[in-house]
Amino acid sequence: MRLRIAAGNWKMNKDFNSGIELIKALKEGTTAQDGVHVILGTPFIHLKDAVAMTADVGHIDIAAQNCHQEEKGAYTGETSASMLHSIGIRYVILGHSERRQYFRESNELLGQKVRRALDTGLTPIFCCGESLNIRNEGWHARFVKNQLERSIFELSEADFKKVIIAYEPIWAIGTGVTASPEQAQEMHLEIRNAIAEKYNQSVADETTILYGGSVKPANAVDLFSQPDVDGGLVGGASLKAETFIPITNAFKQA
Ligand code: PEP
Repeated sequence: MRLRIAAGNWKMNKDFNSGIELIKALKEGTTAQDGVHVILGTPFIHLKDAVAMTADVGHIDIAAQNCHQEEKGAYTGETSASMLHSIGIRYVILGHSERRQYFRESNELLGQKVRRALDTGLTPIFCCGESLNIRNEGWHARFVKNQLERSIFELSEADFKKVIIAYEPIWAIGTGVTASPEQAQEMHLEIRNAIAEKYNQSVADETTILYGGSVKPANAVDLFSQPDVDGGLVGGASLKAETFIPITNAFKQA
């Protein structure tokens, strides 16, 4: 059975104390569910404390929001995968559309980052997704498939099986506009079929594919009920316990 995940992406939000308060509230307010993981993608300043605070909670894991593609060296301001691993981090979000847009991260660079993360023992949560223009022009499936082909489809089958995919249509991120459950399902199935074509059906069936883009308590159950939607990567609604906890509980009704 595929792992189901409710992952929060805090982006560049929360000062140190308010982040710690949120982790405490999520630790108290979320419950363990069979086959479900809650992942908190916190800013770098919270990572080490977040790992320590959740070490005794089996269903919560912590993710970094980026890592560098090189092992180490003169890259001022950057953080390596092995540094993250050394403080107990096991997940890293890579390929978020904001990294692609504002930091010019290409599919090829992201392929290198994924490779480095895997070699270091981190599980990448790899984001892909199309812009509104591409969706309106109707070639979103081809665009996303191309993103995958030029980055993570370079991986061996054994490595690919360690990757979590997040389909995040850019037009739905932070906009309040959510893909309909049918639109999400359609793209998740496209992605799963592309994986089956590249690897095989059993790899495709085992790959966790998350939906991201204005997931909220009001739409999480409908989205997570879709057969190929295995959970969500959540931005805005992950910043408050009262909105993120119901999303983590949506699997119970999905
Ligand atoms: C995201 O940042 O990955 C995201 C999906 O944001 P939001 O939920 O706010 O749309």
